[in-house]
Amino acid sequence: MSFHATVLTLYRDMFPGPLGHALAGRALSEGRWALDAVDIRSFATDRHRTVDGTPAGGGPGMVMRPDVLAAAIDGSGGAGPRLLMSPRGVPFDQAMATRLAEGPGVTLVCGRFEGVDQRVIEARGLTEVSIGDYVLAGGEVAAFAILDAIVRLLPGVMGNNQSAAEESFSDGLLEHPQYTRPALFEGREIPAVLTSGDHGRVAAWRAAEREALTAARRPDLLAPVRRGRAAD
Ligand code: SAH
Repeated sequence: MSFHATVLTLYRDMFPGPLGHALAGRALSEGRWALDAVDIRSFATDRHRTVDGTPAGGGPGMVMRPDVLAAAIDGSGGAGPRLLMSPRGVPFDQAMATRLAEGPGVTLVCGRFEGVDQRVIEARGLTEVSIGDYVLAGGEVAAFAILDAIVRLLPGVMGNNQSAAEESFSDGLLEHPQYTRPALFEGREIPAVLTSGDHGRVAAWRAAEREALTAARRPDLLAPVRRGRAAD
């Protein structure tokens, strides 16, 4: 059974979009994962196919109706955890991507307007997940980001499994700088250690660079790594 992604959206035509290209697109056509984009509006029951309403208590914008969204969730038959794309949610990270990639699939609910009625979040046990501290116009871009991060971790998707083990966040640190040809670019050389052929020195240089870069840019990531080392 391949990984099964279900996306509930008012804009089904946006999918697979970027996920139909490159690594994720190839994996999709190879059947390593499957994608169902479900049109929430097709679950509306009134003549105008209404999916939203004005906010109770007043205020600007519109709110997605709980009954239509609940019917879409119930009718979609999605696998795995149900996540609601939401700026109020738990921050999405590499650990969550890894955990989800190990499961049967995921169901992603994309909000629009001012968001969704609180009662459907509770009634359908949706977990709110955020891709960062900024407000998007809709959950679709968040769903792309989350699926992109998951799909590249699925078995057989990345050619070289080492890349997953060595990149940013895999050991809690940011990745070391990378270089390739040409040897000289606008007067800048590749650090000599990388062309020395000494694998031990290369590994040590990269580890030191990861540590220094993380300390400079994301000290918040470094603290838990150092605590973990101290506990070993
Ligand atoms: N009024 C809401 C924002 C609604 S934005 C608030 O202040 O919290 C419309 C939709 O975009 C949301 O329902 C959500 O599905 C999506 N969205 C916006 N920002 C997001 C983020 N940072 N992460 C994930 N989804 C987001």
